[in-house]
Amino acid sequence: MPITKTTERVNINKRRIINGEDADVIQLYPMKHAFAWTAYNVGNSNHWLPTEITMQNDIEQWKSRDVLSEDERKALKTVLGFFTTADSIAANNVVMAMYRHVTSPECRMYILRQAYEEAIHTHSYQYIVESLGLDEGELFNMYREVDAIYNKDAFILSFNEGIFNPNFKTGTIEADQKFLENVIVFSIIMEGIFFYSSFAVMFGFQRQNKMVGSAEQIQYIMRDESQHLNFGINLVNTIKEEQPELWTADFQDRMIRLIRQGTELEYTFAREVFPTGIFGMNADNFKQYIEYIADRRLARIGLPEQYHSTNPFPWMSEAIDLNKEKNFFETRVTEYSVGGTLEW
Ligand code: FE
Repeated sequence: MPITKTTERVNINKRRIINGEDADVIQLYPMKHAFAWTAYNVGNSNHWLPTEITMQNDIEQWKSRDVLSEDERKALKTVLGFFTTADSIAANNVVMAMYRHVTSPECRMYILRQAYEEAIHTHSYQYIVESLGLDEGELFNMYREVDAIYNKDAFILSFNEGIFNPNFKTGTIEADQKFLENVIVFSIIMEGIFFYSSFAVMFGFQRQNKMVGSAEQIQYIMRDESQHLNFGINLVNTIKEEQPELWTADFQDRMIRLIRQGTELEYTFAREVFPTGIFGMNADNFKQYIEYIADRRLARIGLPEQYHSTNPFPWMSEAIDLNKEKNFFETRVTEYSVGGTLEW
């Protein structure tokens, strides 16, 4: 976009998540969407890299024939099979749908941080796959081969259609609802629901003192993902305030249906992947857990809870789910709040 030479200053009141009138997306100040700046700073203070976590124990346990059962091996490979491509799918959407259409520079700052975190997550899966000597071709292609993964990803990727079209523009009710739907599908369903059976399995390993290096990486990923989810929820709620005309009864019904569909895809995934259950978690527990977190996500964007399920995995919520992650991560040895110091 060409610039106009002018002494007229940016009017903060015209700043919008999307459709900022005469939006200057280059000037960070004055900021309006303070949640984005907070999220950006939290992201920086949570910074981590997979290669700082030792995989020595995991490698020994994976090589040994006595530590992991066949079911556990299959479970680990399948959740990795989901993870290996999931963050690339998220990254594509963040860059090619969100960044392009968001007109708030402070939100764009966080989106840049988020995009980097998605890259770190993909790096983490690559590091685990490589350390354990797994077949990269098999793991990274699982999203096209394994029904339970394929079905989730095909559902999510269908929401890239239209919005990835270079001619797509916000500014009509229809287009803006499509954008808002995209944020809800990617933040709430992909980042807020589709990772959670796999997270639960990884923490199941950790609770048995198995594959702790891999599980520790997944903890950091989950901490990042809960920030991505929070940011997405803030985007949705702010767009609702700025453009209330988008939040029609029909639109709300459609979002509830999509979230219900996502919930079903997720517990179907868990049931197909762990037919006999794993670490004391059975198919019914997974279903109940996914319903429980879906209700929490619905409530946070002002939609009615659908399932009223209680949490069958209280250790997930105590340890890592959303608000309590801060205490949980105090156990961490490495401190990143001083990150960025250079030594020559
Ligand atoms: Fe993410």
